[in-house]
Amino acid sequence: MLLGLLLARSGIGVRVLEKHADFFRDFRGDTIHPSTLEILGELGFLDDFLKLPHQEVRRLRGQIGDTTLTLADFTHLPVRCKFLAFMPQWDFLDFLAGKARAYPSFHLEMETEVTGLRFDGERVIGVRAKTPNGERDVPASLVVGADGRHSTVREAAKLPSQDFGAPMDVLWMHISRQPSDPDQLLGRIDYGQIFVMIDRGDYWQCGLVVPKGAYEEIKSRGLDALRADIVRLAPFLAERVEELKKWDDIKLLTVQVDRLRKWYREGLLCIGDAAHAMSPVAGVGINLAIQDAVAAANILVPALRNGGSPSVSVLEKIQKRRELPTKVVQNVQLMIQNGIIRRVLGTNRRMSPPLIIRILGAVPLLRRIPARLVGLGFRPEHVSYQLAQSRNR
Ligand SMILES: Cc1cc2nc3c(=O)[nH]c(=O)nc-3n(C[C@H](O)[C@H](O)[C@H](O)COP(=O)(O)OP(=O)(O)OC[C@H]3O[C@@H](n4cnc5c(N)ncnc54)[C@H](O)[C@@H]3O)c2cc1C
Repeated sequence: MLLGLLLARSGIGVRVLEKHADFFRDFRGDTIHPSTLEILGELGFLDDFLKLPHQEVRRLRGQIGDTTLTLADFTHLPVRCKFLAFMPQWDFLDFLAGKARAYPSFHLEMETEVTGLRFDGERVIGVRAKTPNGERDVPASLVVGADGRHSTVREAAKLPSQDFGAPMDVLWMHISRQPSDPDQLLGRIDYGQIFVMIDRGDYWQCGLVVPKGAYEEIKSRGLDALRADIVRLAPFLAERVEELKKWDDIKLLTVQVDRLRKWYREGLLCIGDAAHAMSPVAGVGINLAIQDAVAAANILVPALRNGGSPSVSVLEKIQKRRELPTKVVQNVQLMIQNGIIRRVLGTNRRMSPPLIIRILGAVPLLRRIPARLVGLGFRPEHVSYQLAQSRNR
């Protein structure tokens, strides 16, 4: 969506195809990081964005056993917004779509599912799509696969990928929120379990991290056992866990971490999770996808303005620009997944913070390091001067 917006803002014709009828899908993550807010600022959209309902989190706090610690402090970041904004992703996508529609060369086609690619020899020349009115071909001088971690485009393009595995999946659920509830924490870790709670106003968006493939076993233990696990981690939910009445109220989200070896081929580029599926660890995937979009636009606009399809060397430049930051973030995620989460999920006892986390919690200066890594990432992208200026066209 953001790449479409940026291309259209430069006067380039773009069609964004979305398979669903709306963006209202839950359980997608809500974090809009300072790096993304900075991009919205560069585009002149920040004031409007901040008018939408959201929560601003300046310090990330977590609870391990009985101890609550501050793990990251965003208030010193050298950016416009020194906080994480929590906003449901559908609101963010609707916002971007609304802004993009202001550009005449932007077209968003909902309920249009890409089912395959069209080729001329080795070159990708468009996609095949399923719509409520039947199948159709959509020609394109460049196809961008931004269709997430189960990408149809990447599969049809036969781009080789590297799978890094993940020791966990996430069970997502809603539990109502009351004004007297404690403030939002990054997560609660205890008794070999990790419980994430995102404040969505009148309800909590909750995620219980479970060992990969354990869902069937959890189901066989019964809903009462699951409710008891949740209450053990967040006792103030004791009355409200009864809102989880059936297994349909709980959604399994499988976690996968992988990365394409090559993000492109002639006529085609993959970005975001389609190029590198991100773990939910640290909630950075949305922001990395946004960074990919900005880098791609900065490189593609001059090439597309000259007409025709960008050369393979232009597409290679985009991968070169974004591959290292992606690797750094994924490696940190894998370290946390394999070094901490895997171990936590393997125990069933009361927990206390390890020494390194205690030090982080005790020394305010140190909290700036995770804030920088999470909030800005490695090699944050900026909208090019030409793209930033093209707002008045
Ligand atoms: C459990 C879990 C929690 C997470 N929490 C967070 C978080 O809090 N913060 C964060 O930053 N990241 C989080 N992530 C990671 C984040 O969700 C992804 O990294 C991010 O959404 C990637 O963005 P994307 O635009 O590349 O893909 P997506 O957000 O997956 O978007 C892909 C879009 O393409 C559409 N689509 C798919 N197939 C087709 C098709 N064939 N034709 C047309 N349209 C199609 C989809 O409907 C969707 O709208 C989480 C991930 C998991 C698994």
